[in-house]
Amino acid sequence: MSTANDALCALADDFYVPVYRPRRIVLDRGQGSRIHDLDGREYVDFGGGIAVNALGHAHPALVEALTAQAGRLWHTSNVFVSAPPLELARDLVEASGFARRVFLCNSGAEANEAAIKLARKWATGEGRPPERRVILTFRGSFHGRTLATVTATAQPKYQEGFEPLPGGFRYSDFNDLAAAEAAMAAGDVCAVLVEPVQGEGGVMPATPAFLQGLRALCDRHGALLMLDEIQCGMGRTGRLFACEGYGVVPDVVTLAKALGGGMPIGAMLAGPRVSETLTFGAHGTTFGGNPLAAAVARVVLRELSSDAILANVARQADAIRASLARIDEELGLFGEIRGRGLMIGAPLRPAHAGKAADILDLCVGHGLLLLQAGPDVLRFVPALNIHDADVAEGMQRLHAALREYATG
Ligand SMILES: *Cc1c(COP(=O)(O)O)cnc(C)c1O
Repeated sequence: MSTANDALCALADDFYVPVYRPRRIVLDRGQGSRIHDLDGREYVDFGGGIAVNALGHAHPALVEALTAQAGRLWHTSNVFVSAPPLELARDLVEASGFARRVFLCNSGAEANEAAIKLARKWATGEGRPPERRVILTFRGSFHGRTLATVTATAQPKYQEGFEPLPGGFRYSDFNDLAAAEAAMAAGDVCAVLVEPVQGEGGVMPATPAFLQGLRALCDRHGALLMLDEIQCGMGRTGRLFACEGYGVVPDVVTLAKALGGGMPIGAMLAGPRVSETLTFGAHGTTFGGNPLAAAVARVVLRELSSDAILANVARQADAIRASLARIDEELGLFGEIRGRGLMIGAPLRPAHAGKAADILDLCVGHGLLLLQAGPDVLRFVPALNIHDADVAEGMQRLHAALREYATG
């Protein structure tokens, strides 16, 4: 049977560079945490566009901010300024409590690229030993797909075939403080780049001892602690910044994904020690600080800072975990559920290793959009304002899909 979905999916087959393998539905319109495809089928959205649509779809305040700005001014370049990005930079600094200045860009990779360049520039500064060039990152991390950020991403599967990779990166095991200490012993590390909760690497939270220990190691060696909060920031863990939950004050934080609520935007927040490291002409981007994206991001930041949203994160995280426990009593598919706030990973038991993609296919059939984090982990990153009824309905559909998987 040919459908509107099939006809359009054929365009992806014919005309996209084949780097993605999207599911065979074409999403057409969304409202809150529900989406409809071109054939009129409805889905509960637990994927949130990979932790991007933190306020769901078509949030009235975001639609209002975007349409108001759309009739006013779309782009200025960085040669001129407009109000939305200026005010967004101030709002981010004020909301953070640790940042002094902001560099606005368009994506997560660009935010990390800026952080990497900042670290290298900072390491050349007066009084610092010239041999200190290495950036330490962790196995299982994900920092982006540009050459520098894919090199920072300590997972071979993302790097293979793109050699030679840029030099000056070193990898260590995540949540292994002794290994990090050894990796920094030579005194050549200028910065540590780490996700407080690894996303693509399987939804793995850093232990408080690990993150706090990295802060202490950076202080001892005169290195920068740079946190990639592109996925785990912006309220997802139940705090606006994930590092708040660890009591760790970073030198640099990168944001993207949820920052624009669906508009492409990224940001690098620089603390007082490094806020003037990148000087005039040292870095730039044509589209960064785009007025449309910034106007929306200001509203996103305001909404995601609200106590009501942060309380909802805790409430819905509890609901999802309780429901997963009930499903697992019946089906016995999962290992220990992990994550922070509304960033939840359900690892499949060894007997079901590699089956996450199959389960996601079944979920689509049952009207649920869900994500994986690697081949063995189901990843829940819904909107942070998701309603009780959406969580209940989504978990019911998941239960049905998992029953089909277990019996099929
Ligand atoms: C998604 C992601 C990135 C890359 O962001 P892009 O916008 O895809 O470039 C970097 N770091 C983390 C932790 C991410 O989740």
